[in-house]
Amino acid sequence: MLRRLKAAAAPLVKRGLSDVAEISGMYRLAARRSGGVGVILMLHRVVPAGRPNVYGRYMIDDVALDRLLHHTRRLGWEIVSLDEVRRRLVEGDFRGRFACFTSDDGYRDNLEVALPIFRKHGAPLTLSICTGVLDRSLFYWWGGLEELVLTREQIEYSPPGEPGTRTLWARTWQEKCRAYDLLDDLCHATGAAPARDLFERYNIDPYALLDRDALTVEQARQVAADPLVTIGAHGVTHERLCRLGDEEARREIVDGRRLLEERLGVAVRHLAYPFGNVDACGPREFAMAEEAGFEMALTTRQGNLRPEHRDALWSLPRRVVPDGLMGLRNALSGFEDVLLRRAGFPVPE
Ligand SMILES: [Zn+2]
Repeated sequence: MLRRLKAAAAPLVKRGLSDVAEISGMYRLAARRSGGVGVILMLHRVVPAGRPNVYGRYMIDDVALDRLLHHTRRLGWEIVSLDEVRRRLVEGDFRGRFACFTSDDGYRDNLEVALPIFRKHGAPLTLSICTGVLDRSLFYWWGGLEELVLTREQIEYSPPGEPGTRTLWARTWQEKCRAYDLLDDLCHATGAAPARDLFERYNIDPYALLDRDALTVEQARQVAADPLVTIGAHGVTHERLCRLGDEEARREIVDGRRLLEERLGVAVRHLAYPFGNVDACGPREFAMAEEAGFEMALTTRQGNLRPEHRDALWSLPRRVVPDGLMGLRNALSGFEDVLLRRAGFPVPE
C-alpha cells in the first residue's frame, strides 16, 4: 500500500510540482492550509544504506533517517514525543510547529540501526510493538513475499477466483519490485491466503524470517529502557481490526497492551492500529481504544495535525516517513495532500 502511494505520487513529483511549489511560495500557502500545527511521521524498517528495498517507503536507510531528523529541525519543526503531542493538543499549545516520529511493528533494525540515529540527534521515538512479533506467532507474509521475489526469478501464483495459475517474472530488479507490489496488493485485499499457498509451494518459512527481522523480548526491553523511547501497543496478531467481531477486536486492543506491559515492564498508554487505514479501523475501533483507556491512538490516514484533533485523540492521522528533503517539505507543509489528491487518494479534510 505504501509503495502504491509512492508510485502514484512519484510522476507528479517528477513533473516538477514540488519545484514549482518551492519557487512560487506554494509551500507556505500549503502550510497555512494543510500544514496544521504538526505532523506524526511513521517508520517501519530502518536498514543500512545499500540493502535492497522492494517495499518503498516502508523501509528507509540510515543515511536517509539521519538527514530527515537533521532537516526537520533545520526547517523549524521541533521534534517531540507522543506524550508532548497530546499535551500540546489538549492544552492548545501551538506556539511552534512540531514533528513526532513513530515506528510500527517491532523490528530488530529499530534497535540496531534507528535508535543510534535518534540518540545522536537526541530525538524522541515512539515504537508501537505487536506482541505477535515478540512471540514469533505473527504470520509475517510481507517478509515472506520479500524473500520470495528476492530469491526467485519465476513465480507461479493462483489469482483468487480464477482457474489455473499465472506466471510472475522476477528476473530484473524492476520485475522483482512489480511482483512484490502485485502480491502485496493481493494480500492486503484478500487476506494472507495467497501468501500461505506461495510459501508452501516455494518452501519459504515466514516464521524463520520473522525471527531474523524482529526484536526479541530482551531487545524490546533494551529499547523501552531508553529515555527517548515511548512504547505503544500494536495489537496481538496484526489483523485488520475492522474485519474482526466485537469481542475479537477488543481482545486485540486490550491484550495487545496487557501482554506488552507484562513482557516489557513498562506502562503502555498509546495505540497504533495495525494497517491503520479505512479498511482496518473506524469509529468502532476508535471507541474501543478510548474505552480501553488509551490516551491516544494513531491511524495511517495521511494528514497533518490541526487544533481540532484534540477532539479526535483516538483517530489521529500520520504521514508515511518522507523520501528525501523534497518529500519532507511536502509532508511538513501539507503539500503532500495536494499530490495525493491529484493522484486520486482520499485525504482527510
Ligand atoms: Zn504494523
